[in-house]
Amino acid sequence: MSELIQIDGSQGEGGGQILRSALALSVVTGRPFRIGRIRAGRPKPGLMRQHLACVEAAARIGSAEVAGAALGSQEITFTPGAVVPGVHRFQIAGAGSTMLLLQAVLPPLLLSRQPSELVLEGGTHNPFAPPFPFIERAFLPLLRRIGFDVEATLDRPGFYPNGGGLCRVVIRPANALKPLRLEVGEGAKPASLAALVCQAGLPRQVAERELGVVRERLGLAPEQSALEVRADAIGPGNTVHVLAEADGFSNVFTGFGAPRVRAEQVAEEAIGAAARFQASGAAVDEHLADQLLLPLALARGGSFTTTEPSGHTRTNADILREFLPVTITTEPVAPAVWRLQLDTQFSP
Ligand code: ATP
Repeated sequence: MSELIQIDGSQGEGGGQILRSALALSVVTGRPFRIGRIRAGRPKPGLMRQHLACVEAAARIGSAEVAGAALGSQEITFTPGAVVPGVHRFQIAGAGSTMLLLQAVLPPLLLSRQPSELVLEGGTHNPFAPPFPFIERAFLPLLRRIGFDVEATLDRPGFYPNGGGLCRVVIRPANALKPLRLEVGEGAKPASLAALVCQAGLPRQVAERELGVVRERLGLAPEQSALEVRADAIGPGNTVHVLAEADGFSNVFTGFGAPRVRAEQVAEEAIGAAARFQASGAAVDEHLADQLLLPLALARGGSFTTTEPSGHTRTNADILREFLPVTITTEPVAPAVWRLQLDTQFSP
């Protein structure tokens, strides 16, 4: 039995991501861990419903024994067994993010020699989490470039706070894994912009006003913007996504609609985030940066340029170092650009 890894859940960012990364890495490596002070950095510390759902899902994928998994718990011990590929259905009551649950269960399945299908029910377009279009257009295309074989489809969106969305993630055995290198340098082709507005249960006018703003401010032709109005969602919701496509994938910047927030403001949130990123000259945004570390560590490593490493990125790097033989370095390469390099000795 390998030695128990001790994780301090309050370190760095101090949020749910420490737990999700530890769950995924424990199942991948077969190394048990104990995490204390879970989400101590958050106003309501301990396991909330969505974090408990991640623990239970990872335990199912990794045949794990778990002690301490209860709502509000600030400490769990997780002892993984064999990985169980195949069809798994996971449901998060309310609008807990299915896209965050994916962070906890996808990594071991990416490395399995058997195919899997995940059927995820819950939130798909949540603030403070990757919305489905980010996973579909930004994260998964880069995983495929590394050599992983994974695709996601959205059957029904689930907006905060009602949730009830449904998405499927199909994972097949990986192809030859390659290092990922993403640099944007002088002379690089500028990203081409597009926009996507997702909406359910609200007057169509709201989405049209948002589309009007993004088209005008970004100079988009009608075919560069799309409106997805869904009648099948459980509750109302609205998101605006600006997609900056270059080099075969998109960075995705999102504005989240909320009661009493004007449509124009939601559109401006996405436009502003995209503009700040584009001005930087980096290859990937701060969210992709923290989410790419784990798949890079499982494959052949690599490097990318990004904006200033966030608390999530630095903390995720620290958790990776606890489980895997990795070297992760960041260096500033331009006024608003850092290069993150990950070398890994892990062989799946
Ligand atoms: P807590 O409730 O403890 O804050 P959490 O479980 O909601 O935690 P975090 O630890 O804050 O999660 O992690 C959030 C994750 O969601 C990070 O990987 C972050 O990059 C990602 N994320 C947040 N906002 C976006 C966004 N707009 N687009 C893409 N990814 C996002």
